[in-house]
Amino acid sequence: MNSHPTKMPLILNVDDNDGARYAKTRILQSAGFEVIEAANGTDALEMVQQQHPALVLLDVKLPDINGIEVCRRIKANPDSSMVLVLQTSAALTGRADKIRGLEGGADNYLAAPIEADELIANVNALVRMRQTQGELRDSEERFRQITDNIDDVFWMFTVPDAALVYVSPAYPTLWGRSVDSLRVQPMDWLDAVHPDDRSRMAQRWNQLALAPHYDEECRVIGQDGKTRWVRDRLFPVRGTRGDVYRVARVTSDITSRREMEALLRAADRNKNQFLATLAHELRNPLSPIRNAAALLGTSGDGSAGQINERQARAREVITRQVDHLAHLVDDLLDVARISEGKIVLRREDVNLGTVVHQAIETAGPLIAARRHRLDVRLPEQEVWVSGDPVRLAQSIGNLLHNAAKFTPQGGDITVLASVTAGVADAGQVKISVHDNGIGIAEDNLPRIFGMFAQVDVPPDRAPEGLGIGLSLVAHLLELHGGRLTAESPGIGMGSTFSVELPLLRLGTVAPALACDPAADAGGSGMRVLLVDDNVDAMEMMGFLLAEMGYQTWASSDASQIESLALHHRPQVIVLDIGLPGIDGYEVARRIKRNPALAGIRLVAHTGYGSPEDRRRAMEAGFDAHLVKPAELGDLERALKG
Ligand code: ADP
Repeated sequence: MNSHPTKMPLILNVDDNDGARYAKTRILQSAGFEVIEAANGTDALEMVQQQHPALVLLDVKLPDINGIEVCRRIKANPDSSMVLVLQTSAALTGRADKIRGLEGGADNYLAAPIEADELIANVNALVRMRQTQGELRDSEERFRQITDNIDDVFWMFTVPDAALVYVSPAYPTLWGRSVDSLRVQPMDWLDAVHPDDRSRMAQRWNQLALAPHYDEECRVIGQDGKTRWVRDRLFPVRGTRGDVYRVARVTSDITSRREMEALLRAADRNKNQFLATLAHELRNPLSPIRNAAALLGTSGDGSAGQINERQARAREVITRQVDHLAHLVDDLLDVARISEGKIVLRREDVNLGTVVHQAIETAGPLIAARRHRLDVRLPEQEVWVSGDPVRLAQSIGNLLHNAAKFTPQGGDITVLASVTAGVADAGQVKISVHDNGIGIAEDNLPRIFGMFAQVDVPPDRAPEGLGIGLSLVAHLLELHGGRLTAESPGIGMGSTFSVELPLLRLGTVAPALACDPAADAGGSGMRVLLVDDNVDAMEMMGFLLAEMGYQTWASSDASQIESLALHHRPQVIVLDIGLPGIDGYEVARRIKRNPALAGIRLVAHTGYGSPEDRRRAMEAGFDAHLVKPAELGDLERALKG
């Protein structure tokens, strides 16, 4: 940009002939130029240094210093080297003089007789040229100021032969290689790329003409042997006809960002690990507590009815709280697994009705305790989806649990399932859980699916729960190819949570759901060997089973298991898989391989409850798999098979 666009350039007119000088000054002034004059070389040189004219109109023949020499001195001085010189000479000057003048550094040469229009055209042409050069220089200067002072490497290559056109000075610092070797061999940079990333980057450059753009992250090994992470971006540069004839490239050091990411990932891994360990450790004591509570109720010690009633109430409290704790702990474990991508669905064809009823069974106690009315409306036809029945029941159970929790006593909860036909597929199933409870403010709706997210609670109330239920449900549904959505007209206006799942097929008109037959009460002398290193847990279970009419033996030493089994001849062995120093799966395999023991029913009782753990147990030869703390009914069913 020209800072004085209207100011005309200053011209120094040098001629010892007063008449000729005057004539030239008039011509230039009439064209709008500002003109100053000198009659000899010495004055001319002085005025150039002091007044910085844009152009010197310089006659060759001067009294003191020859015009060609004056020109040479102007051009030789760095302060004035950019001043334009238009040399003029008297008529009849030879070609040789003209060449000498130009070689002396003049920008052009005019021989007399000089016509007015010729002079002005020449001066204008030179001034224009200098202006363009100045603009170019400014622009290049700006570019250089950027590229010289930024740590990123800027490059330019030709397409398709990838010859280097330009590389900025940051290259040796970032790459640890010299610009010289890059000039000799433009792909020299590739040698510093980490071997694991090299072929990927090389491939990008092999198809340069086809795909002249990318955004990659790769490692570069510097001369110091240090590895740096860089973000490398390539952009096509198009010619006037739209063809890509060059590529521009920007490479930035992102090592610190990568390091931060790695730290964050490690912290996240530690957190998940901690959550998993914590949940696992918390789960273990729950089993003996639950069993001890159950035992309290069964011991007919003949005490007065009032004490028994109090005991019964105390037992209820313990059982309810243990159930609540077990629920939280299970959610925690699931969260840790989801974050590590370790949840595996055990998919099968699932009847939606069964899943909904299981969910109602789970949330039933809370719904009943808070005296809500529950209305369940399922389609007449059986609705089948593909999924993990346990996880689907858990998801809907969670929504029902929330509906019961966030609705004041005596509320209305509705479960509504509907099917929409699909165009390209079988269609969708939508299961909505609606309540008329406290509702959710619009601002909070997008937040509640986040991990550990809870709507702000008033300062006088402690938050309940961990804020992971909905996040868990959303993830589980995502794994099923479905989704969870939430709606609420506002605070106090109730909420609706909807689960959408891909429909597998519709069945016949749904029959009434068969109830699980109640487990046969009474152990009728069945022989059970219990192996667990948690002596409390084992003792409790032993008492409980004995109360129920089983004959039990217990050991905390799994290495003795085979000899104990041969000795006592149990019909069932209940074994904790996670015993220290011993592989429970291997114990199971050994028992099943032993012809004298192979007929014994094996029940795994363990804190590891994922579908993967269950599968491993079954593969090792266990006949049943119970997750601690096992419900009494489940335990009995597992014992009887
Ligand atoms: P938690 O129940 O442990 O807080 P969730 O992830 O299940 O965690 O729920 C997150 C938040 O969403 C809850 O704290 C509550 O504020 C809100 N929320 C969930 N379900 C409902 C509901 N049915 N009605 C009103 N608010 C709800």
